[in-house]
Amino acid sequence: MPGFELFGDTERKHLNDVLDNGVLMRYGFDGMRKGHWKARELEAALCERMHAKHAKLVSSGTAALTVALASAGVGAGDEVIMPVFTFVASFESLMAVGAVPVLVDIDDTLTLDPAAVEKAITPRTRVVMPVHMCGSSAQLRELKALCDRHNLLLLEDACQAIGGTYDGKPLGSYGDLGCFSFDYVKTITCGEGGGIITDNAEYAKHADHYSDHGHDHEGNDRGAEQHPFLGYNYRISELHAAVGLAQLSRLDDFLSIQKKNYTVLRTALQGIPGVTFRRVPEEAEENYSFLSFFLPDESTTRKVHKALGDSGVDGCFYWYDNNWHYIKKWDHLKQLKALGKLPAELVKGMPDYSKIGFPASDAIMGRTISVLIKLSWTAQEVEERAVKMADAIRAVPEMS
Ligand SMILES: *Cc1c(COP(=O)(O)O)cnc(C)c1O
Repeated sequence: MPGFELFGDTERKHLNDVLDNGVLMRYGFDGMRKGHWKARELEAALCERMHAKHAKLVSSGTAALTVALASAGVGAGDEVIMPVFTFVASFESLMAVGAVPVLVDIDDTLTLDPAAVEKAITPRTRVVMPVHMCGSSAQLRELKALCDRHNLLLLEDACQAIGGTYDGKPLGSYGDLGCFSFDYVKTITCGEGGGIITDNAEYAKHADHYSDHGHDHEGNDRGAEQHPFLGYNYRISELHAAVGLAQLSRLDDFLSIQKKNYTVLRTALQGIPGVTFRRVPEEAEENYSFLSFFLPDESTTRKVHKALGDSGVDGCFYWYDNNWHYIKKWDHLKQLKALGKLPAELVKGMPDYSKIGFPASDAIMGRTISVLIKLSWTAQEVEERAVKMADAIRAVPEMS
């Protein structure tokens, strides 16, 4: 997944453009910047690559989710349906706008189970937020149908799935709003950064103002700008955008390397009895940033995960025990450990997650291992890794 493996001359060129004129700020300073507008250029490139009418860059993927929610007017007490398998950023962004995270089960796609979503809809629900975890799509057609039926917004968290598609559309462009992360470990990186795409002109305008203190960016005199509503500072800098501009131009190359490496590993595991793979919806193509597979039961999965580590295969994740990505270990959320007082509407609306179990998701996550697909592996390294993985799995007594 990580684009940081392959920095090169394109990144250097765009960075040097910015350092040469010294304008690290994305807005204003028109005279000084000698025609370089890296954030603007990256927004235009993102629109084109993602088939979206509007794109807004911000300081992180978490900021992108927060700004996307705010741009659509989501606020205190509104309920947002999100999956139990994601990154902690999902509920952080909701709570940042005062919205209530309503956590629901995933299925064997490792993304939102549409049936669980339907059951969780209440009169307070405003948004369904699928997370395209580990490079592959949620069941967007089913989720969109639910959203249309109940008049809800569909906000795609495509932070881990840039370059994947659904129904031929780039992930992020299918719903009302889509978000990307360009943090250091994502498929393409700015160091830190995020992006929002939408076809909705009003949300785009809101995101533009909201992410820069509510400034309306009208006219040439920055000091005369109006503030139609309150905002914050979620700006990206020109330095970050410069790196991202280079990385986006290389995205399709990265995707084809990932696909090639993924295919070698998958082929090696395919023939092992008891190994099955994460379901990718029929309409979707993943971005091949992870290979995720299931073992027959939790105890075997733990043994296989350990065997892979012991045999020197790095980058294998057992998310079930991971406190970044699965609800089981989100104690800070379950106990609402905030530094200050949380908004009353949020606390009132918040289910007691310390008392709610998710056996259906546990049954899937307990059996899931994901392997990170790297870009920098040589063909020989991938082949060796494939053999090592298959051997390690087969050597677990339960698997032979
Ligand atoms: C990385 C990530 C985010 C947040 O992105 P940051 O840029 O790190 O803030 C949000 N959601 C998911 C699923 C992610 O993987």
